[in-house]
Amino acid sequence: APRVFSGIQPSGGLTLGNYLGAIRRFVEMQDEGGYECIYCMVDLHAMTVWQDPAALTRNTRELCAGFIASGIDPEKAVLFNQSQVPEHVQLAWIFNTVARMGWMGRMTQWKDKAGKNAENASLGLFAYPALMAADILVYHATHVPVGEDQRQHLELTRDIALKFNYDYETEFFPITETVTEGAATRVMSLRDGSKKMSKSDPSDASRINMTDDADAIAKKIRKARTDPDPLPETLDGLEGRPEARNLINIYAALSDISAERAIANVAGQQFSQFKPMLAELAVEKMAPISNEMARLMEQPDEIDAILARGAERARGIAEPILKETYRIVGLVGA
Ligand code: ATP
Ligand code: MG
Repeated sequence: APRVFSGIQPSGGLTLGNYLGAIRRFVEMQDEGGYECIYCMVDLHAMTVWQDPAALTRNTRELCAGFIASGIDPEKAVLFNQSQVPEHVQLAWIFNTVARMGWMGRMTQWKDKAGKNAENASLGLFAYPALMAADILVYHATHVPVGEDQRQHLELTRDIALKFNYDYETEFFPITETVTEGAATRVMSLRDGSKKMSKSDPSDASRINMTDDADAIAKKIRKARTDPDPLPETLDGLEGRPEARNLINIYAALSDISAERAIANVAGQQFSQFKPMLAELAVEKMAPISNEMARLMEQPDEIDAILARGAERARGIAEPILKETYRIVGLVGA
């Protein structure tokens, strides 16, 4: 059966971008049936930039609550945190020997996150895509649902699989398919239409958190950066207006309609009319999830038990794949 893998970092609280670009699709793939779904809280990835230990713990549990509140069923999908399945890191080491420095240096996430001071970035941040390839390939996953920003890392995952298969004259690792779908595969910052919305953005006003209450959501949307013109009749009219386009994409994704339909619905409106409507819609869709997250967070022991069970199931799949990898490369004892 086709196998789905995807991960989210506990590097902060979940955002509307994570929900629309990733989690919503995770739930659909789980519910569609026919896929074996594995969803991971990638805590070791989060550590590639500094995480306060207590915050990392809390964020991991909250992320798990976010998955479940959004509709992931831990009985159906395998739900766990990365650090508890050591095969990820073990395979990542093999991939560190496969991936080339040049490949890693070209990754836009590396360039964005390391910034101008790459000398001072962690070695882990540079190697991030090799660990990500291992996350996926240690399960022989065939489909990876992600936001637009992760496309390049998935190409690199394919390059690593291809090079490994070529170097060791095998067809052991599958060539994975990237799944990006919908109107909101790249939700932008509410403060800057050229930057994606991120949970690690220092500005809280730049994003809608899945735990924001109705007032916070309404305020952030009201204050979202826009231009003075009314909304046009068609999407063409949004060219060069990234902030307006972003709000239309969010509106479309939340209402489950295409961006074309969305702009037709609100053509001619001023932002003073459109924004309150969008805020109300966002609250209506997100409030039940955030309420459920808060309820689940009251029982951290239950969350920990779910993660522990998930890790056990994940290991059952990963262990033989790592062992076979070790055998292929010639490690004695495998
Ligand atoms: P960080 O800022 O720490 O990198 P993040 O918000 O980018 O956090 P990740 O954990 O890196 O979140 O990514 C988890 C998933 O959410 C990935 O599939 C990613 O593509 C998706 N995603 C992240 N941000 C957005 C966004 N703004 N729009 C759509 N999808 C997104
Ligand atoms: Mg990210």
